[in-house]
Amino acid sequence: MSATPSSVLESDHSEIVEAFESFIRRELVPLAAELPETADQPPADLRTYVRKRSAALGFYAGDYPEELGGAGMPFTAVVLLHHAAGRSGCLLAPYALAGSDGPSPLLRNGTPEQVERHLVPLVRGEQTRCLALTEPHAGSDAFRLTTTAVRTGDTWELNGRKTFVSNADRAGLALVVAATDLGDGRTVGATAFVLPMDQPGLRIGQRYEGMSGEPLFELLLDRVTVGPEAVIGGEEGIGAATALAIDSLSRGRLVVAAMCNGIAEYALRIGVEYARERQAFGRPIGDYQHVQEHLVSTRAEVEASKLLTLACARLVDAGTEAPENAALAKLTASETAVRAVDRSLQVHGATGWVRGHPLEFLYRYVRMMTIIEGTSEVQKVIVARAMGLN
Ligand SMILES: Cc1cc2nc3c(=O)[nH]c(=O)nc-3n(C[C@H](O)[C@H](O)[C@H](O)COP(=O)(O)OP(=O)(O)OC[C@H]3O[C@@H](n4cnc5c(N)ncnc54)[C@H](O)[C@@H]3O)c2cc1C
Repeated sequence: MSATPSSVLESDHSEIVEAFESFIRRELVPLAAELPETADQPPADLRTYVRKRSAALGFYAGDYPEELGGAGMPFTAVVLLHHAAGRSGCLLAPYALAGSDGPSPLLRNGTPEQVERHLVPLVRGEQTRCLALTEPHAGSDAFRLTTTAVRTGDTWELNGRKTFVSNADRAGLALVVAATDLGDGRTVGATAFVLPMDQPGLRIGQRYEGMSGEPLFELLLDRVTVGPEAVIGGEEGIGAATALAIDSLSRGRLVVAAMCNGIAEYALRIGVEYARERQAFGRPIGDYQHVQEHLVSTRAEVEASKLLTLACARLVDAGTEAPENAALAKLTASETAVRAVDRSLQVHGATGWVRGHPLEFLYRYVRMMTIIEGTSEVQKVIVARAMGLN
């Protein structure tokens, strides 16, 4: 096939992407081949190995500065790596890149001590964390918090209940967001705290098995008592969690968008291959227009989505990121990926439905993408506001 429109935007970082793809092919694909066919997620030790190996090669958390243990890559390059991971179809590839368990943009606003003690080990892949923001009655409306942090002198006491927390069982650190009471009658919005997972009073509650791989957890805080060193950003961070979180959301959404585009491209590729081979009524099924409709519609949507995500990533590198752009990209890419996997499975018929087929796994895995990092509806709310519609 001739050069695709999106290849124009991909070409700048082709060396990094090719090196990453070669790492996937040479090292990760053989390791993934040893896992049981029906495995939804790698065992913990393999996941740790992949993260550390990728960090040593400079891919994991590649956009973090070298002095923090990263590779100083432009954000667009990182977005292309996430795309490549999704496109590879390799179960281990996403674990080679920093995601929701990796270095948190929240910690970039940490004090120098917090950066050194917590952020650097995360960038190097030596440590993982979890983010405890969602509560039973605060999901999309994330800052309507009932978890509280009350200050008495130099000490903070945290109480509350967080839910749907990823990676809580493996993380070394929890980033906990709580409604803040200065102890003198003043409340000042939300504050983010960094806590070791073995902090007295902090414990994992219920475990939720999801549609695919990773379980989620409840995190309970019962009179967790910490000093000022736990407040992300120190004195300036008190009451600043909403602003800090909003600031960091755009990049997270673009990374999810890139992974979605990669998954959609993978689903499309195997759909086309299958449509060329599989025979029905004496001809390859790809000869039939109803089958072509599934694949061509996906092709059009994936190409448009890739262009949008890559253009938004470039805007981030140009220092002109806007939350509504990232919202548009995440909305488009996640919805595209869900449709792409669904259509490719349809093209595969029963073959794609069978446990152990990549599409059977992806059909369950991709479904979370329209929920995490803000639901599709929430992305639309962001875009509507930017359009002056309240
Ligand atoms: C796989 C996975 C991993 C997660 N990991 C984490 C994690 O690590 N840490 C963490 O804190 N949370 C995590 N979450 C929780 C996630 O952030 C929330 O599920 C998400 O923000 C949505 O909240 P909710 O599930 O409570 O849905 P709700 O907010 O109850 O929404 C329910 C429905 O109402 C719609 N809706 C809500 N408000 C509006 C509105 N204003 N306009 C239109 N429609 C609206 C939503 O779009 C949705 O369709 C995870 C969730 C999943 C599925």
